[in-house]
Amino acid sequence: MNKNLLINGELTEGTGSAEKIINPRNEELILDLPEASLEQVEAAVAGASEAFGHWSQTTPGDRSAALLEIASRIESEGEAFGKLEALNCGKPINAAIEDEIPAIVDVFRFFAGAVRTMSGPLAGEYMEGFTSMIRRDPVGVVAQVAPWNYPLMMAAWKLAPALAGGNTIVFKPSEQTPLTSLKLGKILNEVLPKGVVNVITGRGETVGNSMVNHPDVDMISLTGDVATGKKMLEAASKSLKRTHLELGGKAPVVVFDDADIAEVVEGIKLFGFYNAGQDCTAACRIYAAASKYDNLVADLTAAVSSIVYAQDDDTQNEIGPLISASQQDRVVGYVDRAKELGHIKITTGGSKHGSKGYYYSPTIIANARQEDEIVKREVFGPVVSVTPFKEVDDAVQWANDSDYGLASSIWTSDIGKAMKTAARLRYGCTWINTHFMLVNEMPHGGLKHSGYGKDMSMYSLEDYTIPRHVMIKH
Ligand code: NAD
Repeated sequence: MNKNLLINGELTEGTGSAEKIINPRNEELILDLPEASLEQVEAAVAGASEAFGHWSQTTPGDRSAALLEIASRIESEGEAFGKLEALNCGKPINAAIEDEIPAIVDVFRFFAGAVRTMSGPLAGEYMEGFTSMIRRDPVGVVAQVAPWNYPLMMAAWKLAPALAGGNTIVFKPSEQTPLTSLKLGKILNEVLPKGVVNVITGRGETVGNSMVNHPDVDMISLTGDVATGKKMLEAASKSLKRTHLELGGKAPVVVFDDADIAEVVEGIKLFGFYNAGQDCTAACRIYAAASKYDNLVADLTAAVSSIVYAQDDDTQNEIGPLISASQQDRVVGYVDRAKELGHIKITTGGSKHGSKGYYYSPTIIANARQEDEIVKREVFGPVVSVTPFKEVDDAVQWANDSDYGLASSIWTSDIGKAMKTAARLRYGCTWINTHFMLVNEMPHGGLKHSGYGKDMSMYSLEDYTIPRHVMIKH
C-alpha cells in the first residue's frame, strides 16, 4: 500500500500529523497516514507552478497520449484499485471493480479524445485590416479537493479535464479515503513530467485550507458539501481565483399515475440505495401519484427489504456500510427526528445494523410531507422518502422546492408529459424512466446550491480552459 504523497516528482511520506484510515466494514485501523505539512503544500504548489511553464505548451496530442497511458495503467491494475477502494470505503467489491473502474478508465479516454477535437468560433476579419482568432488556454495551477464517496472517480473527473486543458494540479483526496489517489500518484509520477500533478493528503481545515488560499493557485475545484463550497468562494474572493464547485443534491423522483410501477421499484431500489445512498444524485425523494402511492410503497418496501448487505462474503453484498461513525450518526439523527413526526411511517429499516461496521439498514419513509426535514435536507445514506401528490403542479412545485438543483427523474409512459415536466424542473439533469446514468459525453453538474461547475463532457474541458482573443493587424 503506497503511503507516499507525490510532490514535484518525488514520492515522499507526509510530515504532518497522522490521520487514522479506518475500514468502515469492521471499524479496524487500516493505517496511520501522516498528512502533508505546510512546507509540503508549499512545495507541491511550487512544483505545479514551475511545471506549468512547459506542460501548458505541450500539444493536445502529447497530453492525449499521457491520458491514454494513465487510462491503460489504471485498467491493467483495475482489480488492485477496486480492492483498495472497497477496503477504504466499504464498497461491495464487485461494485468497485466492475462498475467504478471501467467508468474511471473511460473518463481519461474521453478527455484524451476530447482535447484533440475542441472547436470554437471561426477566425476572421471582424474589423477591416485585422484578423481575429480564439484560443482556449489553460487556467494555470488548479487546487482540486475531492470527497469520500467515490474517491478515484472524483479524482478522474477532476484530473482528466484539467490535465487535458494544459493545467498543472495540486490534488487532495478526502482525508478519509486517500488510498486509491496515492496509488494513482505512483502511476502519474511515471507517466507525467515532474510537478504536473501533485497528490497530497490531509484534512480540509489544514492542508485543504492552505491549498485553496495559496496566492500561486489560479483556480479552486471542489466536490463536496455546500458549506465547504462557501468557504472556497471566500478563499477565492481574496485573489479572484476561478472556482469549479460540485456540491450536494437531493434528487426528486416524480412518479406519474401512468408509470410502470415495477420499473420504478426496480429503479429506486438500485438508484436510491447504490453506494448506500452516499451519492449526490441518489433517487431519495419520491413524489408518487396518489392513485399509485399505496402500491408503490408496498412494492418498494418489499424490494428494499430484500437488499443484501453486511454479509461476510462481500461478493453477495449489494450495498456497503456508511463511510464513518459520524456519517452513521448523521443518518440516525435524520431518521430518528422523522420518526418523531406523527404522520411518518417507516415501512422498512429505520435503524443501525449490527455492532461492528457503520451499517444502516435500507429505509423507506412513507407519508413524508414536503415541509419535513427528511424531504428537504441531504441525508447521504440509504434512506428514501415517499410523498403522495394529487396534482401535477404540486409535484413539480415540490420537486423544485429545494435549495439543491443537481439531479431529478420523471417516470411516466406519456412522452409528452415527460418532456413538458422535464422543461419545468430546475435541475442540472433530468432522467426519464431511469435515474443516475452518467455518460462521459454529457455534463454532470447542478444549479442553485448544488454549484455550477460541470464535470465530464466538453463543458468540463471548457471550465478548465479560458477563451482568449488574439488579433493581428495586417
Ligand atoms: P466535504 O465538503 O466535507 O469535504 C470535501 C473535501 O473538501 C474533502 O477533501 C475535505 O477535506 C475538503 N475540505 C473541507 N473543508 C475544507 C476547507 N475549509 N478548505 C479546503 N478543503 C476543505 O464533503 P464530503 O463529506 O467529503 O462529501 C460529501 C458531500 O459531497 C456531499 O454533500 C455530496 O453531495 C457532495 N458530493 C457532490 C458531488 C457532485 O458531483 N455534485 C459528488 C460527490 C459528492
